[in-house]
Amino acid sequence: MTRMLVQPNKLACNFCGKFDEDVEVLVSNKSAFICNECIIKCVGIVAERQLANLGKMTLTEVEGLDKRLFTEEQMRTVANRLAKLRNPFG
Ligand SMILES: [Zn+2]
Repeated sequence: MTRMLVQPNKLACNFCGKFDEDVEVLVSNKSAFICNECIIKCVGIVAERQLANLGKMTLTEVEGLDKRLFTEEQMRTVANRLAKLRNPFG
């Protein structure tokens, strides 16, 4: 953030402060920027939060999770939960 103030003509990620030339992708909307590295970190945070709530989710909610968020190991946890919800007595 401070770096943006020091060099106002350069575009930088609002999360980590890296300049666009230092990252692969800098995504923007009208008022903010986020780099590819921070997007990946955010995806990881979302996945962890969803995994933490997995035990409270209904079958429909678990089925509706965006599987692209999860690592292979996390997907095994999701798959196990799905199996248990689909066949609670199995
Ligand atoms: Zn960033």
